[in-house]
Amino acid sequence: SLILNDVRKSFHQGDVEIQVLKGLNVNIEPGQIVSIVGQSGSGKSTLLSILAGLERADRGDILVDKANLVPMTEQELTLFRAQNISIVFQQYHLIAHLTALENVMLALEILKMENPRVRAEEALRELGLGHRLEHFPSQLSGGECQRVAIARALVVKPKILLADEPSGNLDIHTGDKVMDVFFDVIRKHKITTILVTHSEALAKRCERTLRLEDGQLRER
Ligand code: ATP
Ligand code: MG
Repeated sequence: SLILNDVRKSFHQGDVEIQVLKGLNVNIEPGQIVSIVGQSGSGKSTLLSILAGLERADRGDILVDKANLVPMTEQELTLFRAQNISIVFQQYHLIAHLTALENVMLALEILKMENPRVRAEEALRELGLGHRLEHFPSQLSGGECQRVAIARALVVKPKILLADEPSGNLDIHTGDKVMDVFFDVIRKHKITTILVTHSEALAKRCERTLRLEDGQLRER
């Protein structure tokens, strides 16, 4: 499960303090698929970065199962993140000089997991990319790149999958197809997922929708 307890985050610009997250509380059950909506600038990406361990909360608790991310040292957080939390971005963030297969294998190799090639191939096949294993990102379409990024996120079997506008860079048709396979795979593997989106249609495909507004997370 994922529990947020009074999570706060401010940014400082010169003398001005901008409070973005003003005390978030939420309890997400294992396997739940949750969308987060909210206006531009409401702090959705900030929240995902904190959940991903890429930025630190100012205070509060973030509990992934029993582990609290907030008091962890950088070293502890880096390891915990690699083992437990995956993120998919709007821009795919693939490594340009590695093939699709190598991009996915890298996630496993960093964790010294066994049989990286076999596992990575399996993950890519599941995303419908069995015929694109040896292609480089520049040789793939946007939809294919995002499928590689999703395979890379899922291959480590994370406790939590975070996705920030995963179809935001794709045309509607391609985005819908990528999201179809995304939902199929996360439902099949019962992965706890938090999906940030501007799309009402996408939000509706999740079991639960939260709105980030005025620095608070509200059920809707
Ligand atoms: P969008 O829907 O446009 O992606 P968002 O909800 O993801 O918006 P964030 O990117 O989380 O919004 O930004 C929330 C607020 O925090 C904005 O006012 C932004 O300018 C500010 N902010 C985010 N990151 C930083 C930073 N590193 N330094 C200063 N301010 C920041
Ligand atoms: Mg954002």
